[in-house]
Amino acid sequence: MAQYILAIHGGAGTLQRGVMSAEQEAAHRTALEGALEAGHQVLKGGGSSVEAVVAAVVALEDCPLFNAGRGSVFTHAGTHEMDAAIMEGHTGRAGAVAGVSRIRNPVIAAQRVMDRSTHVLLSGAGAEQFAADEALTLESPKYFYTDFRWQQLLAVRDTGRELLDHDGTALLCKDDAGDASRLINGEHKLGTVGAVALDAMGRLAAATSTGGLTNKRHGRIGDSPLIGCGTYADARVAVSTTGTGEAFIRAVAAHDVAARMKYGHVTVEEAARTVVNDVIPQQRGTGGLIAVDVEGHVSMPFNTEGMYRGVVQSDGRCYVDIYG
Ligand code: ASP
Repeated sequence: MAQYILAIHGGAGTLQRGVMSAEQEAAHRTALEGALEAGHQVLKGGGSSVEAVVAAVVALEDCPLFNAGRGSVFTHAGTHEMDAAIMEGHTGRAGAVAGVSRIRNPVIAAQRVMDRSTHVLLSGAGAEQFAADEALTLESPKYFYTDFRWQQLLAVRDTGRELLDHDGTALLCKDDAGDASRLINGEHKLGTVGAVALDAMGRLAAATSTGGLTNKRHGRIGDSPLIGCGTYADARVAVSTTGTGEAFIRAVAAHDVAARMKYGHVTVEEAARTVVNDVIPQQRGTGGLIAVDVEGHVSMPFNTEGMYRGVVQSDGRCYVDIYG
């Protein structure tokens, strides 16, 4: 049987056992299993790693529980600005959209940028025009409205703080030095979504999609749509991150995993753990990542209490977890 593997994440954060109700936890697990199944069907049918990561991320974008697509968080202005990216490892092709408000599935728009434009990253109105030209589904703001996210914005809108949505129980408070280091309060909302896959032909791909941070400034763009920061794939490894976007950008985190493997000849596990446990904290960030190498080894480290995550392999074995 051909060997393939798919890993997904739904955000990392302050996820403590017992905080979520049993029903909420079951709903998250079911959603993760659904996304794994969507990607697994693609790989099982001989589909590519690119098609598999898109299928998995679309399933998570369509689920209001996660901060991507339908469940995206609100900006300070009470709007939605979503980011997404995709990269194919063996060719180095990539596509991304940033700051889009109406595209139902930003990851599909990112895939179209990769496949059908000469560019890598389109933003704002231009990205939406491109999506419309490609006949992608556009939605009104109502589609992206969830009361849960709206209450989340109201809780922080006038505080001058940004709620780090991936950090499910925290408000991100900037200290005088501008450090994203002090975490307070307790809400339970997350998180950016992503997928990495190795297909039966040995091809790698990564995709990431997010609504960003609650109460973020209009125009703020995170790490997710930036190739090398939140999303990266080459012939060796595919990586998707979640966490304090600004820290992952400064660390060029996803590419750092690949570079450590390429130049330092370390395993995917060692490279991923070093980035998450050493490099990101040095940049005053929290979060995690998922990575799969060309031999099918998966690494899913996080420096938070938990990270929604799951893996499915070619034998159909499926694993989903939330806590550390
Ligand atoms: N990395 C995302 C961003 O900064 C947030 C997250 O992972 O929850 O936009």
